[in-house]
Amino acid sequence: MKLAVLVSGRGSNLEAILEAERRGALGPGRVVVVVSSRPFVRAIEIARAAGKPAVVVDHRAYDSREAFEDELLEVLAEHAADAVALAGFMRILTARFLDGFPPGRVLNIHPSLLPAFPGGHAHRDVLAAGARVTGATVHVVTAGVDQGAIVAQASVPVLPGDDQARLAERVLAVEHRIFPRALRWLAEARLQLAEGRVRVLPPAAGRELADRYAALHAGSELAARAEARAIRQVAAAAGRQVIAVSACLLGEHCRWDGGDKRDPRVLAGTADVEVLPVCPEVLAGFGIPRPAMELGPDGAMRVQSSGEDVGAAAQGGARLGAELVREAGVTRALLKQRSPSCGTRVVWQGGALVPGQGVFARALQAAGVALAAEDDQP
Ligand code: SF4
Repeated sequence: MKLAVLVSGRGSNLEAILEAERRGALGPGRVVVVVSSRPFVRAIEIARAAGKPAVVVDHRAYDSREAFEDELLEVLAEHAADAVALAGFMRILTARFLDGFPPGRVLNIHPSLLPAFPGGHAHRDVLAAGARVTGATVHVVTAGVDQGAIVAQASVPVLPGDDQARLAERVLAVEHRIFPRALRWLAEARLQLAEGRVRVLPPAAGRELADRYAALHAGSELAARAEARAIRQVAAAAGRQVIAVSACLLGEHCRWDGGDKRDPRVLAGTADVEVLPVCPEVLAGFGIPRPAMELGPDGAMRVQSSGEDVGAAAQGGARLGAELVREAGVTRALLKQRSPSCGTRVVWQGGALVPGQGVFARALQAAGVALAAEDDQP
C-alpha cells in the first residue's frame, strides 16, 4: 500500500508513522509522499530527513477549496498514493476529495474518544467538561467532521492538575501507538467497512510475538478479541496449550519502571506453547511514562505521589486482559511476581512492598486461571 501522509505542523504523528515503517511495523505499507498545507513546518524537515518526498500545497495560495483539493489530488496521483493518513492536517476535506479514494482509505487521528469531544479544541473541551477519561481515536474520514467509522481507540486518564499541554502530551503518546497500528491493518487489507462500522479482520496465523502484542494492545477491543481467538485456533491446530504471559517478561516495554524485564527462564518455559502476551496497564490506557502506582488499603489502585484513584482504569485493563485470556482459551498464566497489576506475590501498598496480588492477577484467579511467576520457572 502506498501511503500519503498529509500534515500541517510539527509532525509528531508523521514521525511515529515513519519510525513504524523503519521498524517494519507498517507491514506492507510504504510512505510515498508527505504533503503539507503549510510551508516551513517541522513535518517537512522530518519527511526530508527520512528521505521521503515532501511537497507543500499551501492552502492560502488557492482561491477555492476545490482548487486546493485538485492540487492535492494531483500530487497524490503523481506519487501513485492509494491511501491517505491525516496526521495533524488542519484542513477539512470535502466529499469531492474523498471520492478520489475507495471508501475507508483515508484515515485521521483525533485527540479524544470520539464521538465525544469532536472538533479542533478537544483537550480544552475535555478539561472544561471535567471528564475523567479521554484518549485518541483513529477513524475513517468522511465529509462529516470527526464522524467517520472508528478503527481504533485508546484511553488516557485525566489527572488532577492537568492543563491542555500536559493532557495533550499523554494523549499524543497513545496517538503514536494506535495510528501506525491502524495504518498497518489498512495496509494488510484487514479493515472491513460495512454499514458505517469498521471490522478489523484477524491476522494471518503464525505471527511473531511482537506482532501479536501489537495487535492485542493497539486500542481496538474488537481487534484484540479477534487476535486472541486467532491464537486459540493456531494452538488448537498445532495441539499446543495457550498460556498468558506478562508482556514485559517477554521483552515488551515495562510500564512499571521502563526497564527491560525480559526473563530467560520465562522465554525457555514458553518454548512449547502458544503465548498470549498481556500487559493490563497498556490495555488500561495508562500513558508512558506513567506515575508509580500502588494498591490502596481497599485494594484499589492509586498514584503513589498524589493518592489519585486510578482503580476504574486499572480494573478496565484487568477486565479486558481477563476477557482476552478467556477468548484465547488460556488456563495457565505466567505473571510478573512484583507489580500492582500482574503481581502474583508482592505489591506496593501503603508505601511498602507487601505480600499480595495485583488487580490483574486477582481477575485471572477469579476466572480459574492457574498462576505462576518467573521464580517458579526452573
Ligand atoms: Fe509488566 Fe504487567 Fe506491569 Fe504490564 S502491567 S508492565 S505486563 S508487570
